[in-house]
Amino acid sequence: MTTPAPAIQLLDAARHLTSLGLNKGTSGNASIRLADGFLVTPSGIPAEQLSEKSMVYMQWDGSPEAGKKPSSEWRMHRDIFQARPEVNAVVHCHSMFATTIACLGRDVPPFHYMIAVVGGDNIRCAPYALFGTQALSDTAVAALQDRKACLLAHHGMLALGKDLSQALAIAVEVESLCEQYWRLLQIGEPNLLSAEQMQEVHVQFKGYGQWGK
Ligand code: 13P
Ligand code: ZN
Repeated sequence: MTTPAPAIQLLDAARHLTSLGLNKGTSGNASIRLADGFLVTPSGIPAEQLSEKSMVYMQWDGSPEAGKKPSSEWRMHRDIFQARPEVNAVVHCHSMFATTIACLGRDVPPFHYMIAVVGGDNIRCAPYALFGTQALSDTAVAALQDRKACLLAHHGMLALGKDLSQALAIAVEVESLCEQYWRLLQIGEPNLLSAEQMQEVHVQFKGYGQWGK
């Protein structure tokens, strides 16, 4: 089976984020690494109005393809690709539960073993910074250290992958974990797994499904 062209993969991902309910309207954006730059969704266009031609090719120096306006968060996408050579796709969304926890400004602790899918023992919440700024990109890259996802305070979440399908799968999992955490917070402070228990999960994941890849 041949892999679809990057613009088609990105279009599918943007549509998927909307059909899964992770993004609404013009919230969120996505990108895919290319050999000599990256391709990012355009700014302020809802997924249902996108075509593969809408996607914006960006050079590493931040210059966009002529006549196109890239996502306001292009710096965040560019800086993640530059800081993380193993990452080839980035998804950003304002999904309901991740955003709810992000508005509390809380890291999500290891209340469930699936927290390990982000590559560590918690999902960090990056401090608030204005959307579309270098400051937001800097706080996001720091919160993503050794992680495949983070929350962005008063904003949403980011998920990374070796490809778009992995980044989407991680976004779905983070959203589900944030919903569970939100439910737990209605009842009280959740019990947490210990560092030793989480270490066992990381080892177990190496032999499980596709997550360890
Ligand atoms: P863009 O439409 O410019 O990608 O902005 C959406 C967003 O989520 C900003 O953080
Ligand atoms: Zn956003």
